[in-house]
Amino acid sequence: MIIDCHTHAYPIEIVTNPRKWALTHNELHWANLVAPTDRPSIQGWSNLDSMLTTMDSAGVDKAVLLAWYWEHESTCRWHNAAIAEWIQAAPERLIAFAAITPNSNVIDQLETAKALGFRGVGELHLGVQKFDAANPHWQAMANWCVDNDWPINCHATETAGHDHPGSIPTPLQEFVRMAEATPALKLILAHWGGGLAFFEQNPRLRKRLRNVYYDTAASPLLYEMRVFRQMIELVGIDKLLFGSDYPLRLYPQSQKTPEMIRYIEHIRESAGLNAVELAKLLGDNCKRMLKLD
Ligand SMILES: [Zn+2]
Repeated sequence: MIIDCHTHAYPIEIVTNPRKWALTHNELHWANLVAPTDRPSIQGWSNLDSMLTTMDSAGVDKAVLLAWYWEHESTCRWHNAAIAEWIQAAPERLIAFAAITPNSNVIDQLETAKALGFRGVGELHLGVQKFDAANPHWQAMANWCVDNDWPINCHATETAGHDHPGSIPTPLQEFVRMAEATPALKLILAHWGGGLAFFEQNPRLRKRLRNVYYDTAASPLLYEMRVFRQMIELVGIDKLLFGSDYPLRLYPQSQKTPEMIRYIEHIRESAGLNAVELAKLLGDNCKRMLKLD
């Protein structure tokens, strides 16, 4: 089974005119990241039909639709309502994680999302959404997620790298504090965790990070393919989850429309994984974490 644990789905209102939509809703970080005026965007777009067709052609059985790290609760709620229609239309194929902003309404946001059929939170962003491990609303959310067995996916910015527009730091120590404060929380760090995996070589830290997972989203834009083998060496195959970041265009030089198949083939051909490792990475680990049948 292949499960893509990191995809995004945007309502048609956004796709029609992304920048105008973002400015109207005062989502300025997203506007700068996804719909800039000073450079071409690598964002691609999808709708329910094109997403399912893309999954079919890549042999992807299920996909986790992540929402976004919106700056405003109203945008989060609106986005969740739209994604709920997708999962209702294809419940066997799509799993949804909710857009949540950690504020005083956080439990109501979570309960509303649960009633809509969501089963996780994310993608969140410490820097853009301005919270940290000590934030009481984050703590309330983390505890609620443990009680409901919901994972939380957090964007992890690479700790060192080239500056790129819209890149906002996510301090690794905050992820450590989150894991320490709520050891049972399944915390998925996107984009290989931004470098945190290195510190799992400290045995005390490794113990504290035992429920931290790392996803592969957007890796071709950031790292060479040997990162797969290196990450297995650092944290073990069982903590790694395949995610693409679809409909982001991961190969912008040659790829005009978003797709999943190229990244999966790239992993199969160039990551140097054996059959057991591939099966775990591409689906079995996610299936186990989400307790899917
Ligand atoms: Zn991300």
